[in-house]
Amino acid sequence: MEGKNILHMNTGNGELSYARNSLLQESVTRKALSVLNLAIKNMADLGIIFSQCVKIADMGCSSSVNSLLVASNIIDIVNKLCEENNQKAPQFEFYLNDLFGNDFNTIIKMIPNFYSNLKKDQGEHSGHCFVSATPGSFYGRLFPDQSMHLVHSSYCLHWLSQAPEGIENNTTNIYIAKSSPPNVFEAYEKQFQNDFRNFLQVRSQEIVRGGCMVLTFLGRSMADPTCDDCIYLWHLLGLSLLDLLKEGLIQESDLSSFNMPYYTPYEDEVRNIIRNEGSFSLDTLNVFQVNWYPIKTNDDDDANAKDFNEPSHIYGKKTAKAIRAAVEPFLTSHFGNSIMDVLFKRYAKHVALHLAKKNTGHFSLVISLSKK
Ligand code: SAH
Repeated sequence: MEGKNILHMNTGNGELSYARNSLLQESVTRKALSVLNLAIKNMADLGIIFSQCVKIADMGCSSSVNSLLVASNIIDIVNKLCEENNQKAPQFEFYLNDLFGNDFNTIIKMIPNFYSNLKKDQGEHSGHCFVSATPGSFYGRLFPDQSMHLVHSSYCLHWLSQAPEGIENNTTNIYIAKSSPPNVFEAYEKQFQNDFRNFLQVRSQEIVRGGCMVLTFLGRSMADPTCDDCIYLWHLLGLSLLDLLKEGLIQESDLSSFNMPYYTPYEDEVRNIIRNEGSFSLDTLNVFQVNWYPIKTNDDDDANAKDFNEPSHIYGKKTAKAIRAAVEPFLTSHFGNSIMDVLFKRYAKHVALHLAKKNTGHFSLVISLSKK
């Protein structure tokens, strides 16, 4: 099942769009900021950011403002370091990358606002920033040899280039499940190994020596591939699809041929792939957890604290809406769009029932790597 052409988030800026349902990803970006800071400081120590034009790519930018918030943060960090080091602020080229099916129009329309905020926040002394779009899969080449200084990617690398092949015996499970046969886990693990190795290989050709990557993605808290924090989200979506099967709204053959192109690695798997591929050194690996649906507050420490006064059905609805914004186009391409409203209503119910028993969250890894 190819993820490449159909995997994209909900387009536009309507009620169900990714643009209006990406608070979780925004809070994740904030959590990874200290690692980004440190990585840019290391580049400053090597003199890399003091070049005429710093080239940065955000891989998997989607169609919300999050990617431009990342650009603002990076420019702010670089400008402060230049000031501390008595260097002239550089110019910036910021490349927004995502798959060809991504809604680039929505994010491009946000660029004028980004430019005017940048002028306000950074003042006239800041170097110009030029934003452009680079469509294509980040599992292949996107940029010329040795042309990039910094590659950023947030909440993307858990999306595989495709669901693994040869897992027809995963029956009605839509991802690794406690009842999956061992070959299912092995196939997912292998697909991630191949994809992540490819990602490192192609980036190593594009990034200058001493250049950096800061990558945040979903992972799991223990080696066991069936631990709760990595399978529950899809287990509950699988239960919702089973409800629809029982009601005759979907076909059994459609359900059994459907598997998510997604994988959450354990940190040791990530370390091993980086070491074996050999082009990058791993400078930092941090882990953190966020609730399935975070609360927006001004205090970052509170942003992911579950408000226990809110009943779990509210969390069920909010989580279902956030997941719908991310996976609806992919599900629609397989099951058709007529079942989506009822599917996500069921999903909200299953999530609420689960959260009433157990407060499960997303487990994330943030790594920074430098090009040897
Ligand atoms: N970084 C953004 C978006 C995260 S959603 C944020 O933090 O809000 C994940 C994005 O990764 C989606 O837009 C999806 O289309 C993109 N993506 C998944 N696989 C990809 C691939 N192989 N190449 C480029 N983008 C990909």
